[in-house]
Amino acid sequence: MTETRERSLPQLLPWHEDAVAQLRKAWAANRLSHALLLQGAEGVGKQSFAAWLACAVLCDKSAGSTLNCCGECPGCALFAAGSHPDLVLVMPEEEKQQISIDQVRAATERLTKTSYRQGYKVAIVDPAHLMTPNAANSVLKTLEEPSARSLLILVSSQPSMLLPTVRSRCQKVTILRPSRDQAIEWLRAKSGHAVEPALLEFAGGAPLRALAYADGRFDALNEHMQKSLGALLAGQADVTQVAAEWEKDALVERLTWLDLWLSSLARAALAGNADLVTFPGRSAHLPSPSQPLNISGVYSMVDRARALKSQLARTALQRELAVESLLIALMEVLAPRPADGQSEPSRKRA
Ligand SMILES: [Zn+2]
Repeated sequence: MTETRERSLPQLLPWHEDAVAQLRKAWAANRLSHALLLQGAEGVGKQSFAAWLACAVLCDKSAGSTLNCCGECPGCALFAAGSHPDLVLVMPEEEKQQISIDQVRAATERLTKTSYRQGYKVAIVDPAHLMTPNAANSVLKTLEEPSARSLLILVSSQPSMLLPTVRSRCQKVTILRPSRDQAIEWLRAKSGHAVEPALLEFAGGAPLRALAYADGRFDALNEHMQKSLGALLAGQADVTQVAAEWEKDALVERLTWLDLWLSSLARAALAGNADLVTFPGRSAHLPSPSQPLNISGVYSMVDRARALKSQLARTALQRELAVESLLIALMEVLAPRPADGQSEPSRKRA
């Protein structure tokens, strides 16, 4: 039983220290706000931090003492079992992209009621920026008339999408990204093997996101991207087929890879320093920084890759065709410039 309990207790991460110190200080001075906005990039562990905070506020031993999730008391046991009666978790309902007013109302009403365990009542809204405008307005009322010993935790990686009036009424707690060295060290310990800095860069510096790719997924993606681009540039691959492959499997990750690779390629060419290429070329057909490069063309491809990525989230555009046209443009930009009198290398098209 103890094992199960330990497993489901929320874990803090090494780079959460500052935020923990901030909250412990407020708790000790009896100045913990009724509403917190827990903000930070994707993949820095906001969820586990929010869970730790809820557990700590509900922990029987925290009252009048250090804010902590002890893991031993009945409060912590209920938390670990996922059945603490004074905790409400609000997330988008399955298949939905939003948090509705009904969900928020149920949670904020719970905060106004008496605690079942004579302690705090806690509600976590995650991600808070997915609240509908009505839901956000309903939260606003709670922020203006908070109940005693209640804590509302709004979690968001995009706090600028929240109503300014909601944002301004919350105490901000920011989870910063760890330093590169700290992240690499943590990834090494977690994954049990050495981790390339390129993986962390691919994950936008976010360790949890990087960890999700550290099991070989990133290596496979990197390998496949280099292979398919190399084959395209060598005229050995069918662009329609490659577009279909990309569309079917991890398109967003592929576009992220492309963005980083192209940006670093342009930087490397400008600086004349091959070490600046983020994913060093493993295919002979990929351009090397020593070759003349159409730098403005490369930057325009970076823009296109980013634009395509943001459109995929919003619209049901015909992804495959969009990828295909991106690849055709990319080949134009990256193809070695033919000297006078030479013809363009032939490229297969379906
Ligand atoms: Zn406890």
